[in-house]
Amino acid sequence: MVSRVIPVDTFDLVIFGGTGDLARRKILPGLYVRFLAGQIPEGARIVGAARSEFDDDGYRSFVSESIAEFVAKSKQDKTAISEFLKCIHYVPIDALGKGGWPDLAKLMRLDTIRAFYLSVGPRLFGPLAERLHAHGIANDKSRIVVEKPFGRDLKSACALNAVLAESFEEHQIYRIDHYLGKETVQNLMAVRFGNILFEPLWNSQYVDHIQITVAETVGVGGRGGYYDKSGAMRDMVQNHMMQLLCLIAMEPPSTFEPDAVRDEKLKVIRALDPVESHEIVRGQYLEGENGASYQIEAENPDSHAESFIALRTHISNWRWNGTPIYLRTGKRLRARVSEIAVVFKDPPHSIFGPQEGRRGNVLVIRLQPDEGMNLRVTIKEPGPGGMRLIEVPLDMSFAEALGNDGDDIPDAYERLIMDVIRGNQTLFMRGDEVEAAWAWTDPIIAAWEDRHDKPKPYDPGSSGPEDSLMLLHRDGRRWREIR
Ligand code: NAD
Repeated sequence: MVSRVIPVDTFDLVIFGGTGDLARRKILPGLYVRFLAGQIPEGARIVGAARSEFDDDGYRSFVSESIAEFVAKSKQDKTAISEFLKCIHYVPIDALGKGGWPDLAKLMRLDTIRAFYLSVGPRLFGPLAERLHAHGIANDKSRIVVEKPFGRDLKSACALNAVLAESFEEHQIYRIDHYLGKETVQNLMAVRFGNILFEPLWNSQYVDHIQITVAETVGVGGRGGYYDKSGAMRDMVQNHMMQLLCLIAMEPPSTFEPDAVRDEKLKVIRALDPVESHEIVRGQYLEGENGASYQIEAENPDSHAESFIALRTHISNWRWNGTPIYLRTGKRLRARVSEIAVVFKDPPHSIFGPQEGRRGNVLVIRLQPDEGMNLRVTIKEPGPGGMRLIEVPLDMSFAEALGNDGDDIPDAYERLIMDVIRGNQTLFMRGDEVEAAWAWTDPIIAAWEDRHDKPKPYDPGSSGPEDSLMLLHRDGRRWREIR
């Protein structure tokens, strides 16, 4: 099944940081794929803006190379690429200087959607927002997109919100969390609120606990400098995992309008209990047989940053009272997998007598590597000899179910950029959501900083430190295997 393409109005999109890593790997290839799908309207302009001294042609070569490197070979169509490159322009600009702004202003058209993607470090958000206004480039209809990290604590996030608010209204600000652009994440809402089947069971009466895992096999690599100041809590939990938790736990919004959805997500964050020190395990991978050590990769032999975190939390509201939520994320783990597992309780009484090792129903929502869902159900083991129960998966890979090899599932960035052009903020974080998430995260980080907590070592290629297994064992539960 080929996905339906909904046309958008023509637009001028300016990518500040248009020569950076993110633009090269995700934004520009994503825009080309949308062009190929017929979604970029005639006359649309995509303008790279950065410090490098490119002209239009030089930047077109840069874009063409990024397509060659990061778009699937099956989608590299010579004619389409040269048509796409006609949309591409470039203006050299220093976000902190004066040059280039009048040239950019000249390129902007009246009565056309204007979007500004700030694919630059957060210290440039303020100066860019300010200059866009001062030069009359941003108007009431403009949209501004900002990348993560959105602050490193509540104070800095509030300061960033305040700086953006000086030049833009909240309805113009798109804070990207690319996890929200994943097909499965949106499917989470479709499955929960488009079926009658799950919602009646979606509460502490029937759900034993929820596990959210984001496991990576890669280490910190070239991002050591940034990661060492951030750690897994700031890099993963405060944003991506918190967003997944919100979508899985929120009340049904009354409509699928952006603010209706975001109001419900905010209520989840505000209902999260503080996390006690015994409910959290921090880890750091340490030289194992294959020689990978966090401290060497991060070039900081004294680093106490966590490359792994596992924690237990609760949502204090009527729906979830008594259902623990376990979050786990880390680098250099056994496998690359992101999933949410909703583990249901056992039936109240077994008419089949005791069943050794029987496990209950589990709904697994897989975000990667293969987006899909899997519901574990109990059936009778085939054959004579009594009623023995086994669990089998009702498995649905989206790529298989939708009859394609996964190529037609748009990348998260493709979808989110098109949402910006459409003016749909549903999948973007609102300022108060980000602040609430930091307000929950700050005391957890402060507590381990106060006690000079050292992360527990774990072997690269493992499931994380032993203590993280204990976190669930103590509660009579266990983590799903990372594989
Ligand atoms: P990068 O260092 O590769 O690129 C930065 C870009 O900003 C370059 O184009 C550079 O020319 C431009 N720039 C820097 N200073 C400038 C100035 N004074 N005036 C004008 N342009 C200037 O960074 P990146 O990896 O592309 O990341 C960009 C943003 O996206 C960062 O905030 C980063 O945290 C975020 N992000 C990146 C990734 C990723 O995979 N690279 C993922 C998520 C978020």
